[in-house]
Amino acid sequence: MAGREGLDDMKVTILGVRGSIPMDGPEFCEFGGATSCVLVEADGQAIYLDAGSGLLRAPNTGMAEVSILISHSHMDHILGLPLSPILLSDKSIDLYLQKRDGISAKEQLEHLMAPPLWPVGVEQYPCEVVFHDLELPMQLGNVQVTGMESNHPGGSTIYRLDHNGKSLVYATDYEHTDEKQQELAAFAKDADLLLYDAQYTDEEYGRMKGFGHSTIAEGMKVFEQSGAKRVLFVHHDPRHPDVKLREMEAVLKGKNAALARAGEVIGL
Ligand SMILES: [Zn+2]
Ligand SMILES: [Zn+2]
Repeated sequence: MAGREGLDDMKVTILGVRGSIPMDGPEFCEFGGATSCVLVEADGQAIYLDAGSGLLRAPNTGMAEVSILISHSHMDHILGLPLSPILLSDKSIDLYLQKRDGISAKEQLEHLMAPPLWPVGVEQYPCEVVFHDLELPMQLGNVQVTGMESNHPGGSTIYRLDHNGKSLVYATDYEHTDEKQQELAAFAKDADLLLYDAQYTDEEYGRMKGFGHSTIAEGMKVFEQSGAKRVLFVHHDPRHPDVKLREMEAVLKGKNAALARAGEVIGL
């Protein structure tokens, strides 16, 4: 059955947008301290982009089909798996991740959920987890999933979801180069929503080249070139409290651009 009546074509819920490591404390309340996780609901599907600690806030969507598309297996993007409510449910979950250096999705993820890092293995959970080595393009119901390779140490996948004429691009853990900027602008062409990694200020980026992240200024270039309708910046640096993020955001007023906040819900 198609999406429930009254739902937008795509409903996007930001569950976690902190980069690198979770943060806690009153100075991180507004943007949130949980790491990368975005829920997209469309066509009866609950599709999670990344499984950072934001996955622990996964709502009960009532969706029959649950998939998790992981960008890459750096800790901050898989940290939420072992204790997420969906893994502690009796559902069947499809987990997708690009095979890298000959290491399958299953092997990359089982490291986290096995001794010595974790007391029990995936097979001891009530849910059924089906691991898939990512092969794009693919369909999840009527949602079309495409991807492009990011520029990030160890590699990472940038996803695009299209459904019913609406689209979202999830470009986290991405460092700009002239060539990649062109490729990303084409990949995000006319998207309704672009999520873009802006971990660093321009000044910080000068010292962090090669760490695999980008800036608001570079993200705005892709946004403008792509013709996307709206951009939200993600992967906030753990050293940036709310006051700093608000200051970084001030330049974006009136440009259909903002820094993403955990808990934000966007209908496309
Ligand atoms: Zn990350
Ligand atoms: Zn990473």
